Amino acid sequence: MKHMLQPAVIKVLLIEDDPEDVLLVRDMFWWEDADRFNLIRVGTLDEAVARARTEAFDILLFDMTLPGAAGLAGLAKAQAALPGLPVVALGVQGDEGTALAALDAGAEDYLIKAPGNAISLARMRQAMERNRVQAHVADQTRRDAVTGLSDRHAFRDRIERALADGAPFALVLLDLDRFKAINDSLGHQAGDKLLAAVAARLEWHTRTRDEVGRLGDDEFALLLADVADHDQARAAAQEILAVISRPFQVGRHEFYVSASLGVVCSADGPADAGALLKNAESALAKAKGHGNNSFQVYLPDMQAPAVERLRLETAMRQALERNEFVLYYQPQVDLTTGAITGIEALLRWHHPQLGLMAPGQFIWLAEETGLIVPIGEWVLRTACAQAQAWRDKGLGGMRMVVNLSARQFRQSNLVSMVADALEAARLEPAALSLEITEGTVLESTRSNHDTLADLKKMGIGISIDDFGTGYSSLSYLKRIPADTLKLDRSFVKDIAHNPEDAAIARAIIALAHGLSLTIVAEGVETREQLSALRREGCRHIQGYLLGRPMPSRRFEALARRGVDIPA
Ligand code: C2E
Ligand code: MG
Ligand code: MG
Repeated sequence: MKHMLQPAVIKVLLIEDDPEDVLLVRDMFWWEDADRFNLIRVGTLDEAVARARTEAFDILLFDMTLPGAAGLAGLAKAQAALPGLPVVALGVQGDEGTALAALDAGAEDYLIKAPGNAISLARMRQAMERNRVQAHVADQTRRDAVTGLSDRHAFRDRIERALADGAPFALVLLDLDRFKAINDSLGHQAGDKLLAAVAARLEWHTRTRDEVGRLGDDEFALLLADVADHDQARAAAQEILAVISRPFQVGRHEFYVSASLGVVCSADGPADAGALLKNAESALAKAKGHGNNSFQVYLPDMQAPAVERLRLETAMRQALERNEFVLYYQPQVDLTTGAITGIEALLRWHHPQLGLMAPGQFIWLAEETGLIVPIGEWVLRTACAQAQAWRDKGLGGMRMVVNLSARQFRQSNLVSMVADALEAARLEPAALSLEITEGTVLESTRSNHDTLADLKKMGIGISIDDFGTGYSSLSYLKRIPADTLKLDRSFVKDIAHNPEDAAIARAIIALAHGLSLTIVAEGVETREQLSALRREGCRHIQGYLLGRPMPSRRFEALARRGVDIPA
């Protein structure tokens, strides 16, 4: 415990409206101690707050009969307005009830305004000491001993305050991967040191208005202020993963750890700390299911009761046989020529009851159940067949782009499956591009690299989706044989108005050009975004402005007619 020295001169702030009582209180200061006090008098609570903003006081003498802030309500107001300042309440003779209640409400001492009732130095010091000890105890019992972070209760209070405050925030649960193994092999002391180091790093990398807590063994929590939507939450989560993945020095050892994150946005509701924590827990469980070093933002879908989920899963298992999946196609356009150079195949499901569903509504379940593998194979075969059909009709020059999930990518027979799909469709490999996300690339296992190298060798294009949203580690670009980067929609969104987004976009475009990669901007919806991208030298554009994802017949008509590019 830090031991503060008592100040030589105690600075007393007196709130007292009655001039005669002011004189009375002045006289109550024990004459022997008079030069040890510096008494500053104000008439109202507002004045006191204004004064306390510019100078520090040691103690507050609070008149319990203050007009507008009298009695216990007034005391509570003063405590809230001047937090942390020890309070000595000043009452009038014969009101012992108020005296006790004031002490109960947290006043350190109670004095009756009466001649001869001495305000001594010793008594004031006692009040200050009591206040200090209480604050310390209150603080300590709510802190985790190993890391010094807020404990579960304190953190929950912080969530509640943030909810009451109303500004959006994200709640992140962080669970260290394989911590138990580290703890068991190195012992608890080293384990505790590592936890403390993780805590310190998290605190260092968050802002003062954020909060970091420790909720359990190897479970931390972060409250990130001003995170309003899923894009921002994802960006924050990725940053946290990157921060944790840097090595930790514990004693003479260097540790590499990774974490799994469950993230929930307050904007998604509900406005209840317990429920938010529960949702973050289920997102965390899902992230753990993806493997180490990953995160999951909570989606209301996850709440789907088990029965609903089972129903969706059963329907999805039958959807392939029943031909309920379709591909939509979205053009990628070369701004300099107006030609469609790429076609992204995007999956849709005609659900018999729920209607047309976008991947966001069901792909997570397909991934979880492994159904993504047969569905993905269907996508690839269908897209290849369609690409060749269009070529046969004289609509050439467009490369078909197919999304691959991480799980598909890990399939050991992926390369032969792709080769087979190309052959079955008689499509030349150069007419196909496979799109994987940054995250998939970054699971940089040896076999992943081999897979990419084999696909590249066959002549297939490799495109990196959602570029810029993941790790800032760019060195992998040199190592993997990609030929295209997709500039993520989140940078395109505000490119015309937000100089930072424009700067990021500019940097990514320059990077792509420097590495001789094609860059395709995703999610272009407005003319303003288009001209900003054109200004930044981005040549290839995909987005609603030039064409939404559409069924094959409509796409074919568009390809024949040509895309109108706004000036
Ligand atoms: P993605 O690969 O980043 O695809 C782009 C998404 O952005 C598509 O959403 C597309 O409809 C949407 N989009 C295109 N232009 C705009 C625009 O101007 N504004 C906005 N707001 N959105 C635009 P979609 O079709 O819902 O697909 C979502 C994601 O699902 C895809 O993101 C992709 O990761 C995944 N996905 C789609 N089809 C497949 C598939 O066949 N296999 C796998 N594994 N994943 C797929
Ligand atoms: Mg894509
Ligand atoms: Mg994308």
